[in-house]
Amino acid sequence: MKGLRVILFPVPLQGHINPLIQLADILYYWGFLISIVQTDFNSINPSTYPHSDFHSIPLSLSETDSVTGDVIAFVLKLNSCCTIPFRECFSSILSDPSKSRVACLITDAVLYFTQAVADEFNIRRLALRTSSICSFLAFAALPLLREKCYIPLQESQLEEPIPELAPCKIKDIHMIKTGNPDDIFRFITSMVRGTKASSGVIWNTFEDLERTKLAEFSQEFQVPVFPIVPFHKYCPAFSSSLLEPDESSLSWLDKQATNSVICVSFGSLAVINEKEFREIGWGLVNSKQPFLWVVHPGLVPGAQRLDPLLEGFLQMAGERGRVVKWAPQQAVLAHRATGGFWTHGGWNSTLESICEGLAMICQPVFGDQRVNTRYVSDVWRVGIHLENRIERGEIERAIRRLMAGEEGEEMRGRIWSLKEKGEACLRPGGVSYKSLERLASYISEVLSN
Ligand code: UDP
Repeated sequence: MKGLRVILFPVPLQGHINPLIQLADILYYWGFLISIVQTDFNSINPSTYPHSDFHSIPLSLSETDSVTGDVIAFVLKLNSCCTIPFRECFSSILSDPSKSRVACLITDAVLYFTQAVADEFNIRRLALRTSSICSFLAFAALPLLREKCYIPLQESQLEEPIPELAPCKIKDIHMIKTGNPDDIFRFITSMVRGTKASSGVIWNTFEDLERTKLAEFSQEFQVPVFPIVPFHKYCPAFSSSLLEPDESSLSWLDKQATNSVICVSFGSLAVINEKEFREIGWGLVNSKQPFLWVVHPGLVPGAQRLDPLLEGFLQMAGERGRVVKWAPQQAVLAHRATGGFWTHGGWNSTLESICEGLAMICQPVFGDQRVNTRYVSDVWRVGIHLENRIERGEIERAIRRLMAGEEGEEMRGRIWSLKEKGEACLRPGGVSYKSLERLASYISEVLSN
């Protein structure tokens, strides 16, 4: 692989940037040269990655384009607006005499337009899927679910199971809210087509977690697969954070008892309303458990009175409570004082929790989070699913069950065993490690020719 270059292009959202940058680092350590194309919206600081060569392309977003408001409209826009600038940038890297030979392009599966660009230049493309296989298959099944009349969703049927997607229920279907519901199907059809046309899919998952789903995917998509998770465990600590992580989270954790703290974070995109925010605050305070709570700007859109509310909660919690705008999450979850993680079920957060053997409370908000959560609670049985409305009493009980009850203890036993399986995968000879070796030789010996 000496001198071979790989070009990577992430979706400019935190949960997609992190795994792609981690993958870039892994490939660098395996001897590839790295070029990263990123949009000028949500771009990471190139100086953090001096070994990579960065290229910026414009993404003209208007004032009214809101990522959290309509994710589907955002990704459709990405696929249309980036085509011309990405094509120009890709062409200039390929024709730059100072750059070494390009072996392949790796882009997020969401960026389906890049398949046609790669084909045009006769370069092979690998798709990176940054979420679980179970949620991808559930997403890809939406057209079928519409044919079978599960969609549009009926309020009275939400608790019913979907035999085609067991153990998911109708309420787990990820009908992401969007201005035009047909846009979801347009997006899925294009992403599935782009994935099938790719030269392979890299998964941020591991076989012990999703063996049957991996087999199902391979059968349906007929492309090589490389499950090489957990990405973040291969690389030394680094930061592709778009927000500055508050390092004081760690010094605060240093002062807490071992396994006593519940960490709370709903990722970068999920939003809640002010009433839900209050219930969470009361639930945390009433649980009497030490907590570290991430409240990033934008978590409660349009809220006017958040600061005084937060101050009130912190006053009641005293030394037991800490709120930060953004945390160094991986380090926080790995800290000896952290005993549980209340998450929205985003895939990176779920994996980071599994890798630290931390049982979870999952409160999915939208998209793949619902399917991930169904697997956390019903298949791997390593977390409590907050399925109903967000209410302080229920939150308090869930925290007690997780942190102090027998049920929590059992979940910890199961997640600890998953953590150990994940670690075994990574060792030389383990399945993820072998998958990574296979990927490196596939890029250098097959794709580059
Ligand atoms: N994250 C972080 N600090 C925070 C909250 C989140 O570093 O305070 C990171 C987290 O470690 C994960 C990513 O942001 O890698 C969130 O990705 P995920 O898939 O969990 O959720 P999303 O933001 O895509 O909904």
